[in-house]
Amino acid sequence: MDWTWDLSYLYKGFDDDAFAADLARVPQLLEEQKALLAADMSDLSRLEALTDSNEALYALLDRLFTFVGLTLSVDAENVTAAKYDDKLNMLSNDVGLVDSAIDRYIGGLTNLEELIAASPKLQTIAFALRETARDAIHILPEAIEPWMLEMSLSGGSAFSQLRDKLDSTLLVDYRGEQLPLAAARGLAYNPDPQVRKDAYEAELAAYKKIELPMSFCLNSIKMEARTMAKARGYASVLDMTLQNSRMDRETLDAMWQAIDEYLPHFRRYLRAKGRYLGHADGLPFYDLFAPVGKSARTYTVEEARAKLVDELGKFTPAMADFIDNAFEQRWIDMFPRPGKTGGAFCAGVHHADRSLVMTNFQGSFSDVSTLAHELGHAWHNRCLAGLPTALINTPMPLAETASIFNETMLAHQVLKTAAPEEKFSLLESSLMEITQTAVDIYSRYLFETEVIETRADHAMSVEELKDAMLCAQDATYGDGLDKSVRHPYMWACKSHYYSSGLNFYNFPYAFGDLFGKGVFAQWLEKGDAFVDDYCRLLRSCGSASVADVAASVGIDVRSVDFWRSSLEVVKQDIDTFCQLCEAQAAQ
Ligand SMILES: [Zn+2]
Repeated sequence: MDWTWDLSYLYKGFDDDAFAADLARVPQLLEEQKALLAADMSDLSRLEALTDSNEALYALLDRLFTFVGLTLSVDAENVTAAKYDDKLNMLSNDVGLVDSAIDRYIGGLTNLEELIAASPKLQTIAFALRETARDAIHILPEAIEPWMLEMSLSGGSAFSQLRDKLDSTLLVDYRGEQLPLAAARGLAYNPDPQVRKDAYEAELAAYKKIELPMSFCLNSIKMEARTMAKARGYASVLDMTLQNSRMDRETLDAMWQAIDEYLPHFRRYLRAKGRYLGHADGLPFYDLFAPVGKSARTYTVEEARAKLVDELGKFTPAMADFIDNAFEQRWIDMFPRPGKTGGAFCAGVHHADRSLVMTNFQGSFSDVSTLAHELGHAWHNRCLAGLPTALINTPMPLAETASIFNETMLAHQVLKTAAPEEKFSLLESSLMEITQTAVDIYSRYLFETEVIETRADHAMSVEELKDAMLCAQDATYGDGLDKSVRHPYMWACKSHYYSSGLNFYNFPYAFGDLFGKGVFAQWLEKGDAFVDDYCRLLRSCGSASVADVAASVGIDVRSVDFWRSSLEVVKQDIDTFCQLCEAQAAQ
């Protein structure tokens, strides 16, 4: 079996006539949209025509971006793909400007509700139209928009590119060997404690070499965020982010309150892991990711496929068929190879009702879990199939629902039948992950809040940034971490702070993880009766606010109790882990 993915249903290659034709069609469609905006016609006909045109445009962009982006992701040296990637980036700026013009037009319609009432076509996308009209006051003024977008190419975007360059070219002096940063950080998972400690010390020493330019990148990107929020008429960067996420402050506050309440339990887990590894005074930062217990069994691709079909198929037979088909139809690019990027992701091609998964499978249980995660995204895409493009835009907090659901389901099933040694190790790795998405993410949120607020007054110095990072870690990890061994450079490590245009790229992870677990708890409780509700929930992710999507399955995300119920399951796992640790110590 060929375990590279099959992109041939998109295009046969860059020399495929269909590729050139689609690429040429995009600017034509943009011109047609501009002409529609200027034409002498009724608002009803214009809005309907723009709706059809958008559908055609996004179907094209979907195919083009997917083909180019996915080709590059497994073949970084492909110069033809890189050239078309640049072309598409410039094209997407043009698309953005026409989009804004359309949004401004919709925002100016005083009779939008009448138009919607008069048109079945517009009724299907009424949510998107109303949202566009509501948010139109936040579009940049027409006279300055192209200049602000262009300035950002040499401002926030340029600092973001510089950050990636600094990060990807930094060499870490590890035991006399020059390692790329990613390789040195990967040693945090090494079973040898001395390796982990040495790698951590080498990593911190390496950041010293880039701390000054990194601090300029961070200060500049957050300054641009402040400027953008102001220019778009938002009260704050957080307000802008929440509105873009279709989430309200009440929901965010409820989630943080519950996480705050459960911090003592996370600290209990961290201290227990610390004691297990021989540290009396909390876990040193370099042992956060230390593996514990006997490493579990490994899997071939065929075994992983069978496992996923079997375990996730317990949700519904349709899920089993879906996963088996994804393997059979070569939706997945499986193995690492030179020129292929790290990590894993899933890309959906909406109009083809297909998804593509990139992963770097090496046979560990964690790799099987990653496949479950990415195939969860693919299942989500399947649930969105057939909807108009205007209704498939899932906001960040909801984007991980199906992936976390699958991961949680797999872990739940596997734990049921695991041998005691394996159980200990699996339980710990799931606690390690949730500690990242709850405790570490909370520290990142606190840190980013501080940087954005301080930036109103001055650019923070390297020392100030390091202090703010340690304070944020203190506030969330508390005595779970050994105070003398924290990570003052996490602000330089995490790329999420540096996405120009995306801020607070942290709370959606906490939301996604706890929400996905909460949804899974509903399935545990309701069983088969929940299957249709779940699929409906996924299908509605782009058609309502976060709170309304959650309410459709009876979840109130504004209530602290919902978040407590998800965290209570984690607390039980922590209790079990602490007992297992004590039992091991007693042996
Ligand atoms: Zn994901």
